[in-house]
Amino acid sequence: MEEEGWLSDGRMRANEPVLRFAPSPNGRLHLGHAYSALLNAHIAERLGGRLLLRIEDIDLGRSRPEFVAGILTDLDWLGLRFEALVRRQSEHFPDYAAARDALAARGLIYPCFCSRGQIAAKVAARAASGEWAPRDPDGAPLYPGTCRHLSNDEATACRERGEPHTWRLDMPAALRSVSEPPVIRRFSPDDGALETVAAAPSRWGDAVIVRRDVPTSYHLAVVCDDALQGITHVVRGQDLEAATDLHALLQRLLGLPSPAYHHHALIRDEDGEKLAKSKSSESLADLRARGITAEDVRTGLGF
Ligand code: GLU
Repeated sequence: MEEEGWLSDGRMRANEPVLRFAPSPNGRLHLGHAYSALLNAHIAERLGGRLLLRIEDIDLGRSRPEFVAGILTDLDWLGLRFEALVRRQSEHFPDYAAARDALAARGLIYPCFCSRGQIAAKVAARAASGEWAPRDPDGAPLYPGTCRHLSNDEATACRERGEPHTWRLDMPAALRSVSEPPVIRRFSPDDGALETVAAAPSRWGDAVIVRRDVPTSYHLAVVCDDALQGITHVVRGQDLEAATDLHALLQRLLGLPSPAYHHHALIRDEDGEKLAKSKSSESLADLRARGITAEDVRTGLGF
């Protein structure tokens, strides 16, 4: 892997690096996004690579055109320039459906008809009877596997009745189907050094790979797009570090290349909490309205 490290003049050895910043347009950008975008730009420049923008708008209920416009305004204000062709995930559902169908044809995903309430009740009943109820890295109870045991006929009948369903990864089958266990290549933003670590996808259990409403999930769309866009280096927050275990497995299952990853520390508020659109953390637009300049933001974040 040495050929992928940095040269002494700070440039990359191997083929042209490609990075991406991939916000979801379900709110205005805050300082955490600014840090991630600026770090992507900094590393892309250091590597002599390209920087792409991807709008991750598969959540049709929460994504809004005004948030997409806000993202473009804020990134421009920060002085960041991206290549003109911006990939919008909502325009590429057929790509994700093809990946879904490939996994389904190999029996690696199965339709799940359980509602959240049913899953919660089942997990609670298990916990009450003293059974261990493991949780995924996001803290949600692992899916108890109910629909994995449906026969093909039962599942087909439910689908023909039009029952809403997700598609879940059959984790045991997926792990059995890969000839080599998935690994994650991590790179250091300081010197480009690479290290390879074993991925631990099983901690996600039978994760949802396809949501009810659209033919994908964040996990499936992100691995498809990183491959389709030729992304070589993923730079994103530590809140997505555990998801990379699942992404590494999906890449193996779909025969996709796996980029090198750097998960950066999160920007936190004065209470030590990570910033979040859902908590109405002060947005870049709010900061701008208070007279804070882009230069102040860049300097404050160390760029
Ligand atoms: N769209 C995700 C977010 O806004 C980032 C996904 C990624 O970088 O892989 O949190």
